[in-house]
Amino acid sequence: MRRCLRVGQGRTKPGETSTMPVKVSHMRLSRYFLPVLKETPADAQIVSHRLMLRAGMIKQASAGIYSWLPLGYKVLRRIEQIVHEEQVRAGHIPMLMPTLQSADLWRESGRYDDYGEEMLRITDRHGRDMLYGPTNEELITDIFRSNVGSYKDLPLTLYHIQWKFRDEIRPRFGVMRGREFLMKDGYNFDLTKEDALHAYNRHLVSYLRTYERMGLQAIPMRADSGPIGGDNTHEFLVLAETGESEVFYDSAITDLRFGDRAIDYDDVAQCQGVLEEFTSRYARTDETHDEAVFANVPEERRRTARGIEVGQIFYFGTKYSEAMGALVDDGKGGKVPVHMGSHGIGVSRLLGAIIEASHDEKGIIWPEGVTPFHCGIVNLRQGDSGTDGACDALYAALTARGLEPLYDDREERAGAKFATMDLIGLPWRVTVGPRGIEKGVVELTSRRTGDSEEMSMESAVDRIAGIYSDF
Ligand code: ATP
Ligand code: MG
Repeated sequence: MRRCLRVGQGRTKPGETSTMPVKVSHMRLSRYFLPVLKETPADAQIVSHRLMLRAGMIKQASAGIYSWLPLGYKVLRRIEQIVHEEQVRAGHIPMLMPTLQSADLWRESGRYDDYGEEMLRITDRHGRDMLYGPTNEELITDIFRSNVGSYKDLPLTLYHIQWKFRDEIRPRFGVMRGREFLMKDGYNFDLTKEDALHAYNRHLVSYLRTYERMGLQAIPMRADSGPIGGDNTHEFLVLAETGESEVFYDSAITDLRFGDRAIDYDDVAQCQGVLEEFTSRYARTDETHDEAVFANVPEERRRTARGIEVGQIFYFGTKYSEAMGALVDDGKGGKVPVHMGSHGIGVSRLLGAIIEASHDEKGIIWPEGVTPFHCGIVNLRQGDSGTDGACDALYAALTARGLEPLYDDREERAGAKFATMDLIGLPWRVTVGPRGIEKGVVELTSRRTGDSEEMSMESAVDRIAGIYSDF
């Protein structure tokens, strides 16, 4: 696999999502399944949870376990797709491991007893101990030791995006702290510590790109590495009042953007440079916070805030490879345990984090990178042959450009249609009414700014296609 893809290569074009080859040709709201709620759900404590329920994106199945309704599922898939694209761009190899695992592997690593009550333990009909995986270090190490024996096969980074289960004591805030949740977890295998630290840096860079494509600023913060020690774990935090972590940082860090710069993921110095740029300012979670060091940050830049953890990277050396005998021949006649790291992204939690960061009193405001539909079409006079025909033509023109619109063709008042569009948060809306048609114009409205502009249908299509050509 080639590692040094340049920025812009290998991306999916608007409307193409390789995980969802089947495209529904007419996304008419009258035929879609969008069970929006009029009332604000009383038991949802934070805005993202309330909006996901109101917008008909999820339905709780039991505590901390959700069904993903069509709109929520669409966003989940878009987020997953971005994660895949950025992992593959970094040279990491996708695969899929099962949700149910045998307890035996976890006994080998010693974590079967250590993990405690968060692990959901299951016994099968033959009396064998199984568990619903909370993470996959053991399973991947077993795959590695069964198949790789030589330094010549390294470096290697494998990842998957799979459901996890952690029997959280207090599931809350909807998909933010679920019991069942979707995670991307990746594992690097390297001959030396130095190589493994490059894999660590590569993950940091790929994560910066991943979150920015979702319209998010996620700040790498020094986190607690637990009993292993050392400065080799960072959490990525999205600043939000409702975040569960307390964070301390130098406000200068919020000016940093990775942007569209080219990166060669095989270039050790380049990846190291990005890590230094993004981690040299003070930014820590409460677990590693140190008042004495924080005091060196100029007072006007010292910030204490809250954040949502949307990912974590970790170098843990030979902890699992030693315990489980994942050894490779080092080319000098010896056998050595491989150096490993694991790297996670909270795929389902990201929906909540994005909404916390991007909403207003009317509803969600999706960033273009993750929106479930590229734009909405609102027909102001359903049943009128002029507006119906114009909406159909607009729909066809947008689809021909690879865009996926959602057409509100319901027999509803304009106000109700606008309220639904605002709630579900499509970044662009095209309004088609009889008066505009007489003048040969439609109205293009930005959900974020609320600004509207009249223009010909062709110009509206061009404008929207132009906006999405960058995503
Ligand atoms: P937390 O501290 O929030 O419990 P964690 O540090 O235990 O999370 P990791 O093992 O680092 O979680 O998992 C990788 C990512 O998976 C986290 O950064 C987070 O975004 C996501 N995640 C972890 N637990 C949950 C959960 N219960 N619900 C949703 N997402 C989760
Ligand atoms: Mg974590």
